Amino acid sequence: MKTLTLEKILSNYKVYLTDPEINELEKMKLTSPNLSAESLKLALFGEEWNFMTADKYNPWSQDYINRINRKRKAFGISPVDNNCFSRDNSSDLFCKEVVLETKRQKADLDQKRKNKKHIVFVDMDNVLVNFQSGIDRISEEDKEKYEGDLDDVPGIFSLMDPIEGAIDAYEWLNENFDTYILSTAPWDNPSAWQDKLHWVKKHLPDSAYKRLILSHNKHLAKGDFLIDDRTANGAGEFHGKHVHFANKEAGYPGWKEVIDYMKTFA
Ligand SMILES: [Mg+2]
Repeated sequence: MKTLTLEKILSNYKVYLTDPEINELEKMKLTSPNLSAESLKLALFGEEWNFMTADKYNPWSQDYINRINRKRKAFGISPVDNNCFSRDNSSDLFCKEVVLETKRQKADLDQKRKNKKHIVFVDMDNVLVNFQSGIDRISEEDKEKYEGDLDDVPGIFSLMDPIEGAIDAYEWLNENFDTYILSTAPWDNPSAWQDKLHWVKKHLPDSAYKRLILSHNKHLAKGDFLIDDRTANGAGEFHGKHVHFANKEAGYPGWKEVIDYMKTFA
């Protein structure tokens, strides 16, 4: 006897079933939490009631009996005799097992869905990192030399402090979501790529290990939320929800409002 789910019967065993049998099973699929072995048996092995109407003057055709038994063999249960009489309870056991297996798989799927956390990406500059604190620490000479392109000052990203509340916020996000850091490092400032890694190691908890993504194409990151203060580098085209950080009009002026919003999904 095989152990199957309702889903599996409908996807792999249709060839053994009649259209009315398929229709009944399709209906049951829609109400699978209420699936019972009795109703399944009635839909799938209705032939077992046929012996009551057959006699030697009015027998079931051999073609009919053969079709019925091909189906029963496919499910691994015993055949009926020429009067459509079933000699054992293998169809009962089969139906009970299908109901149990269908419910087991549904429960497993529900549990997996429940355990799956939303994916959250968090930008660095002006979201986790106080960019201005780095500017405040560079020399006047560098400020003049890199005027208009201050993010190209070598080493500037190593000088920055966290934004107030950002580390606690990150830790909370990390506990409640599948959280990554998604930032862009300036193309013309190679030290920024290294400094961002150092910054994450220095300021964020160990759970940030290998969760830093540096990209100019944030729209390619597959996830549910992106917390970012800008729309540049693909952030505006992100496929999930762009939580527009430091944007009062969007309703997220700071970390408090962002966390309040994210609590709905935790
Ligand atoms: Mg930013």
